[in-house]
Amino acid sequence: MTSQTYDANNIFAKILKGEIPCHKVYEDNDTLAFMDVMPQAPGHLLVIPKVGSRNLLDADPAVLAKLFPVVQKLAVAARDAFEADGVLISQFNEAAVGQTVFHLHVHVVPRKEGEALKPHSGKMEDHAVLAAHAEKVKACL
Ligand code: AMP
Repeated sequence: MTSQTYDANNIFAKILKGEIPCHKVYEDNDTLAFMDVMPQAPGHLLVIPKVGSRNLLDADPAVLAKLFPVVQKLAVAARDAFEADGVLISQFNEAAVGQTVFHLHVHVVPRKEGEALKPHSGKMEDHAVLAAHAEKVKACL
């Protein structure tokens, strides 16, 4: 079984510390949202709590209570920004089910009917495209 310890040097912790950049969409005292660099559809973004946990399984319920209203806010904004027919919310817990970054995060993926999802952790998107998509979502917040 995977060790359940939180590694404070994971890539999202580094984004939170400002050590590596991101295309930020939203921030408050408890939460950060930014574009996924390997989007499964245009507008794919991630919402993370500032408090570290590996995933949902070891998260403080009080952290989840603050996180999910922000997930909702971003899902509505992403839907509006990309004129989506629906919004996929996904969240992976441990490598066995596809988790690759071990800081709790929620995927928000606006989707158009009939458009297939690209592979999870597939191809890196252009930074100019990600920056433009972040602006589109911000304009709908
Ligand atoms: P998961 O498999 O649920 O752990 O998803 C991790 C997600 O983080 C994937 O969709 C990656 O494309 C995305 N990702 C990895 N590194 C970065 C990064 N530096 N900035 C934004 N998204 C990232």
